[in-house]
Amino acid sequence: MTDLPLASRADYLVGSVIDSSTSLLAQQTHDIVKFAMGSPAADAVPTHTLAHVAVQTMGAGAADAFDYAATEGDSALREALLAELAGTTDATTPDRLTITSGGMQGLDLAFKLFVDPGDLVVVESPTYTNGSATALSYQAELLEAPVDENGLDVEQLEELVVRAGRTPKVIYAIPTFQNPSGASMSLERRERLLELAQRWGSVIIDDDPYGMLRFAGEPVPSLQEVANGEPLVFSVRTFSKIIAPGLRVGWVSADPSLQPLLISAKQAMDTCTNLPLQRLVAGFLREGHLADHLATQRVSYRDRKDAMQTALTEQLGDKARWTDPEGGFFLWVKLGESVDTERLFEVALAEGVAFIPGNAFSPSRRFPHDLRLCFASMPPARIHEGVTRLARAIEKVESE
Ligand code: PMP
Repeated sequence: MTDLPLASRADYLVGSVIDSSTSLLAQQTHDIVKFAMGSPAADAVPTHTLAHVAVQTMGAGAADAFDYAATEGDSALREALLAELAGTTDATTPDRLTITSGGMQGLDLAFKLFVDPGDLVVVESPTYTNGSATALSYQAELLEAPVDENGLDVEQLEELVVRAGRTPKVIYAIPTFQNPSGASMSLERRERLLELAQRWGSVIIDDDPYGMLRFAGEPVPSLQEVANGEPLVFSVRTFSKIIAPGLRVGWVSADPSLQPLLISAKQAMDTCTNLPLQRLVAGFLREGHLADHLATQRVSYRDRKDAMQTALTEQLGDKARWTDPEGGFFLWVKLGESVDTERLFEVALAEGVAFIPGNAFSPSRRFPHDLRLCFASMPPARIHEGVTRLARAIEKVESE
């Protein structure tokens, strides 16, 4: 630890086991099947198309692509994105739209605007702990509410809030193909959540990076659509999962009254989202590539999810249970009490397979026997190999 005079908020910077897995895995020299990070497969990133669009948008004659951008976002991207979203459940308007540096900055802006030290923030359990870590960095007190196959259990949430004796300032939800469980909130639960938030005077941070990656079932309206103009839903979106995470470009759609504050907050953070990559994404959208790309990826991710479930049934059918998502990237696997998945991680890494242990998805470490598998990053044959290695690692841990 440093001897330098840190601010008290530094005690609340808890980091991310999920993100740290990237450098941990990069240090390994043996072959590893990577089910850990939630990134699109390398072959799922449209590099050729992006390179082609990059030459057009950043090549000779487009020198202003390397300037500062408007804080609310470059007009080329704003216009292309508004057109792309028109008619979808995420349709938005210029006065609601701010371009961000990835989804994480959208979350940071949201928690920054609404959380004072000691405020109660509801998070799902399990949740995406980069999100809960952002709430903690503003010194929130967290209340974990359970998730089942229909997403956040709104009835239990109501009971937990009654028991807490105070209402939450913010409810942080990942309503569609949740990270890490893969579960989606039913329409009934979305409606009920909005009623509760309205009653409590809470803001809902609606974090949905995966909603466009549906490969089964029927679409459910977004929280913003269900809210029908009520200002309490703050939607955070990103291009990370639908184009590429290295772009670090995303957006928020929030009540127009918030836009001046969002711009001021962003100006005190990073001035603007980087312009060359905004132009790149704008060109990709304008040329109509996103729809084709998503259509291909949905089929590929469905096949990968099926391959992972088939391999799990073959290898671990009697030892584990797992979720059945209709989209997104993740399966949540429950092992018996005989397996501590943090210990399993060490053995599995030596066997050549990586995942994220369940405890990484709960600020109070509620999931010691569960784990998250990302099915999106590997082709079916590698998925089969990875699950075989995982089963071997489980046997080893069970016999320790
Ligand atoms: N929210 C959730 C639920 C996520 O899964 C992710 C990415 N793993 C993010 C936000 C952050 O997105 P970005 O990489 O664009 O910052």
